[in-house]
Amino acid sequence: MEAGALSALTPVLARVEEDLADLGRIGARAGGGVTRLAWSEEEGRAKAFLVERLARLGVGAESDEAANVWAEIGPEGAPVLAIGSHLDTVPDGGRYDGALGVMAGLETMRLLLEAGRPLKRRVRLAAFTDEEGARFGTGLFGSTAVATGHDIDHLAEVRDRAGVALAEAMAARGRRLEELGRARERLDDVEAYLELHVEQGPRLERMGRDIGVVTAITGIRQVEYTFAGETNHAGTTALADRRDALLPAAETILAVRRAAERSGGRAVGTVGYVAAVPGAANVVPGEAVLSVEVRSPESEVMAEVHGEIARAAEAEARRHGVEVVRAVRHHVAPAAMDPAWRERLRRQARALGEEPVDLVSWAGHDAGALAARLPVAMLFVPSRGGLSHAPGEYTAPERYRAGLTAFARTVAAWAWGLEP
Ligand SMILES: [Zn+2]
Repeated sequence: MEAGALSALTPVLARVEEDLADLGRIGARAGGGVTRLAWSEEEGRAKAFLVERLARLGVGAESDEAANVWAEIGPEGAPVLAIGSHLDTVPDGGRYDGALGVMAGLETMRLLLEAGRPLKRRVRLAAFTDEEGARFGTGLFGSTAVATGHDIDHLAEVRDRAGVALAEAMAARGRRLEELGRARERLDDVEAYLELHVEQGPRLERMGRDIGVVTAITGIRQVEYTFAGETNHAGTTALADRRDALLPAAETILAVRRAAERSGGRAVGTVGYVAAVPGAANVVPGEAVLSVEVRSPESEVMAEVHGEIARAAEAEARRHGVEVVRAVRHHVAPAAMDPAWRERLRRQARALGEEPVDLVSWAGHDAGALAARLPVAMLFVPSRGGLSHAPGEYTAPERYRAGLTAFARTVAAWAWGLEP
């Protein structure tokens, strides 16, 4: 009978598609993409859209100090499972990244309310502010605010490219930077967090599977390298007399690739930013700056790869008579997903006849920030062509049907008290 109640819980794809279509009109761009940057009017309208859809269900919503939207069903005082994702996008991004997770949470709530079976535990839906960090470089903003809190002094310095301070952008939406610390209270009674997300990569599609269960979310460490040599004339300075800062920098770029390859798939490494100073065709560069990003789901591997790159950079700098300094610009620790919740997701997937695949997430997610405080698990559905952060991002309803069903039933099994 309990199994019967669960198997009757089936998402209505037509209304999820309608939700996604309506949400996708907010911030829509001519080429099919959407732009809903953090703290923008469009992100605000997307949140208002969610609040309106919840109101149709008779569910009230609140917004916290980080402007995260929260809504809850279930008996007062009972344990809470949080579910959700984000509604902001990168510039000209897709209509599924984050959006599908929030709409999956909304549909799960609708199904629970329609089922009419009394909830023994609470389900709390979250739409987190500024997951992408596309405007202020403050990715995972809302989820970090509730999980671990922010360094407010650092945030007070943050501005976007137009020179608008984060604090001003927050104030325009009625939020005060100084009050951000209070957002942490939102998780005080939460036991765990579950998130459904598009894979944003091609693995599920290539394997012909519809459900991925995330094992870990990658750590990300970005280190800036500055090589200091001597600026001089490109004609009159003999090769032997030069201290060309760009040469060890170039060797370092290749060392990043080699070190990542040597990890055997356990890390990726990228140099996405290069600058030669002063940056003129007829001047030997006296300074070169590189960004070196390494991602790995394993802290030790991330440290090893960075160490190998640092040793190569120092050796090359010495060879070329150049100084090198490093500065950590960004660090997110890898986040392991909770084994018990992963197993619950897998169980519901298998009950549908699916073979769920264990996957590492090489992209950051709100779930990663929350993992610093709570047991967390994530379910991936396929991304057509592996495309994401682009207008062509798409997941057909037949491709997210199984994932959404397994997700909703995992939540229901817990909220109904069928799972310990
Ligand atoms: Zn996302």
